[in-house]
Amino acid sequence: MLQQTVPVTPSSHSNSRPALANAWHTLDVEKALLELGSNAETGLTSQQVEERLQQYGTNELEETAGRSKWEILLDQFKNIMLVMLIVVAIISGVLDLISLQQGGSQGEVPFKDTIAIMAIVILNGILGYLQESRAEKALAALKRLSSPKVRVIRDGRPVEIEGKQLVPGDIMLLEAGVQVSADARLIEASNLQIREAALTGEAQAVTKQVEAQLQEDTPLGDRVNLVYQGTEVVHGRGTAIVAGTGMRTELGKIAEMLQAVESEPTPLQQRMTQLGNVLVTGSLVLVALVIVGGMLKSYLDTGRFNGGVLQELVEVSLSMAVAVVPEGLPAVITVTLALGTQRMVRRNALIRKLPAVETLGSVTTICSDKTGTLTQNKMVVQHVATVERTFGVTGEGYTPTGEFKIDNQSIRPEQYPELQTLLIACVVCNDAVLQQEVPKSQENGKRNSATHGQQEWIILGDPTEGALLSLSGKSGLEKDSLTRQLKRVGEFPFSSERKRMSVICQGRTQNVAQHAQESPFVMFTKGSPELILERCQTYQQGDKVETLTHTQRQQILEQNNQMAGSGLRVLGFAYKPLESIPSQASENSTEQELIWLGLVGMLDAPRTEVREAVEQCREAGIRPIMITGDHQLTAQAIAQSLGISQVGDRVLSGQELQRLSQEELEQEVEHVSIYARVSPEHKLRIVQALQSRGKFTAMTGDGVNDAPALKQADIGIAMGITGTDVSKEASDMVLLDDNFATIVHAVEEGRVVYTNIRRFIKYILGSNIGEVLTIAAAPIIGLGGVPLTPLQILWMNLVTDGLPALALAVEPPEPDVMKRPPFSPRENIFARGLGSYMVRIGIVFAIISIALMVWAYSYTHASGYRGNPETWKTMVFTTLCIAQMGHALAVRSISRLVIQVNPFSNPYLLWAVLVTTALQLALVYVPPLRSFFGTHYLSPTELLICLGFSSLLFVWVEMEKLFFRFYYSRRRA
Ligand code: ATP
Repeated sequence: MLQQTVPVTPSSHSNSRPALANAWHTLDVEKALLELGSNAETGLTSQQVEERLQQYGTNELEETAGRSKWEILLDQFKNIMLVMLIVVAIISGVLDLISLQQGGSQGEVPFKDTIAIMAIVILNGILGYLQESRAEKALAALKRLSSPKVRVIRDGRPVEIEGKQLVPGDIMLLEAGVQVSADARLIEASNLQIREAALTGEAQAVTKQVEAQLQEDTPLGDRVNLVYQGTEVVHGRGTAIVAGTGMRTELGKIAEMLQAVESEPTPLQQRMTQLGNVLVTGSLVLVALVIVGGMLKSYLDTGRFNGGVLQELVEVSLSMAVAVVPEGLPAVITVTLALGTQRMVRRNALIRKLPAVETLGSVTTICSDKTGTLTQNKMVVQHVATVERTFGVTGEGYTPTGEFKIDNQSIRPEQYPELQTLLIACVVCNDAVLQQEVPKSQENGKRNSATHGQQEWIILGDPTEGALLSLSGKSGLEKDSLTRQLKRVGEFPFSSERKRMSVICQGRTQNVAQHAQESPFVMFTKGSPELILERCQTYQQGDKVETLTHTQRQQILEQNNQMAGSGLRVLGFAYKPLESIPSQASENSTEQELIWLGLVGMLDAPRTEVREAVEQCREAGIRPIMITGDHQLTAQAIAQSLGISQVGDRVLSGQELQRLSQEELEQEVEHVSIYARVSPEHKLRIVQALQSRGKFTAMTGDGVNDAPALKQADIGIAMGITGTDVSKEASDMVLLDDNFATIVHAVEEGRVVYTNIRRFIKYILGSNIGEVLTIAAAPIIGLGGVPLTPLQILWMNLVTDGLPALALAVEPPEPDVMKRPPFSPRENIFARGLGSYMVRIGIVFAIISIALMVWAYSYTHASGYRGNPETWKTMVFTTLCIAQMGHALAVRSISRLVIQVNPFSNPYLLWAVLVTTALQLALVYVPPLRSFFGTHYLSPTELLICLGFSSLLFVWVEMEKLFFRFYYSRRRA
């Protein structure tokens, strides 16, 4: 279907908007520019943009993906626990009907339980629906936050805008890693390769060509002079004029293919579904046992089957079935995860995949890039070294004012031709833009700035290149005039694998060595110094070219090591005269026999907050690892200053890593904390090696080729500012501020979420076990009737358990949350004593309430008792509810007593306990509620007795804490 001929901008999508010309692939560049009323050099004017926004609307897809509202609502009722409740409601209704036909019980509202259960089922469905649609909205908002930015030329200068602001006629700049934001006709391309899998399903990247002459019926995948929205630039650079935006793009036509932020169920949610199945099956077995056992007993006692006994047993079973279902739990889990993502985004960590919220807490290893994540990514050149001399450079930030010095004496750079050539190379072999702007301190995006009076100097593009522009600006060189003089006619772009880039320029300059001045073209190259030096046989000295001796080579490498050893990022520069423009395929042979110019060392200071974050990692049992494309010594110096490694620690280089087998690498990863000069494919091997060693690994990445490693990592983390769209797409989480410390904050939040989830599961399920056992005990002991009606049980599960559980979900972090080792992600939710706690507390809870039940039964059935003999049931109900209040307070901490925890640190819990207790008392003392819930008036003494029994659970939990403290201190001793 996709292969048919479809115009790029069909007019059929919108009747109100004017049509643009079709089939852009058949037009040449001039025609396309004319048709779209734009200019390749200066782009559109602000006014034109305004008009076109009015005319064509914003560049957004009308999202058709996702579930409809009805589907979300229906999904709520597919839960097995709710199905069981519906069955209970029906059976209960039938029983009521029978009893109504037999004359009915006096004063009882008929079908009360059925109505209540159905109300709960519906309410649960609505709540679930509201929460899920809120979650979907929140995820959509997160998606908008991570929506790509685009570089365009408007009003004659490059600017960065949001993808949705693109209009037809915009001149869009494309580079490796960018996701194309609109359909466009190419104007210029250099080695441009685009992966169009999103449209054509073809995984292989397509090489684009500007000049291709294409027939109208050329299939979509072969239109090599067009680029499409939603596809990814994997290599090279290009410029294109936007032809179609919004729904008038190829992607717009298949909008449902849009990759939404994934909202897959988290492992915990899956486990909770399994738990539901276990609970339902378990309760059905229990029900069967109670009914069959009860009937058998009655048969053995009386010698016949008794219908009355059966009815009573069915009622008991229904109550048990309701009691076993933790109705409040799914809502509490959803709320907790949603609140977790909100807290994380406030701390600059944007979650793209919901499971990351809970799994973050289990991270044992964080593999981080250096540049920008551990360092500030604000580069300032400090030294320049040619073969003969070393120059110091002064100045701050990107402001292009400062001095060149030799031995602390200011010099004029034009006096040193080789320095001047190097500075020219800095400007022309450069894709960044340095410009002055009124400060936009709140603005996000690829911006790094240095204030200068009212205005500040900002960088569009790579900060390394920005620093080079600022450096040459200090010698008076200016990009605009220089690039007019030396026009770029070809290039071999930078990639993390190549670690270098070259541009081929046409035009002449006085500064290059004399023999080069005659050549029509000159290629300037910059990159990793070792790599560049390898390709040089000569160097420039004054206006001459001299042969590089072995000693000079050694000196250069020594100087490189010195600069790198003091933490500087070092680049090497060289050039070469050319007689013709080389072909794209000849990059390896062309980048040979270069003329060496010198080294440039720039400071990229470590981020101040990272040292503390690294320290925190250590305390939390997490190992930070640095993986960088930079030089070993630079990496080592930065790693040491941040505390990631110690003096003398081993650094593994990309070259060494290359030689290791995967098994050998698995040995190495146990103790290596710095990997230097690595390529993205090495990152994948490192993650795999760590994972096979059982490490739960978070890995950062920003480039296109980091995507496989990000996908492989347990938590893939992309950079919000410098990250490519492709890396963001592959990640679980995006760092909005690119900061390592943010990862540590997110891990902390992940731990808090997980601890809170365990806390309220303990609380809720312990209570359910207690209820079921108490209900089952009544007929076994031989007390007439069911102690709790389904309605009362629903009340307990939803209100008296539900409200405090919600408050427990926002429990603040325990002080030791980042002082203990991570818990295994593969551990069962019931691990580390949670399962045994639940069963233990459930049994203690049941023993307390059964003891009260037996006592209350005989008390209310004693001769002379003046109240209603059924009052014992209300006493059981009240005790169960109030006991949970004490439990909620005690369960806040596993080891600290309630008096040791600040009661106001979670005011929600205090409120929840107060409100719930008041509501519970209202059920007993407000007559209409009393009659609806089937409770009886409790005298003050009876109430006090209930409170006394209730407090026993609290006392038990506190005693347990003391016992375990004593036990563990003895074991440690
Ligand atoms: P990290 O992986 O920690 O972010 P990095 O930024 O140094 O480190 P890369 O961007 O892959 O990693 O760079 C690898 C090497 O390539 C650098 O050390 C430098 O020598 C060289 N390099 C970086 N940027 C450029 C550039 N714009 N032009 C030419 N060479 C570059």
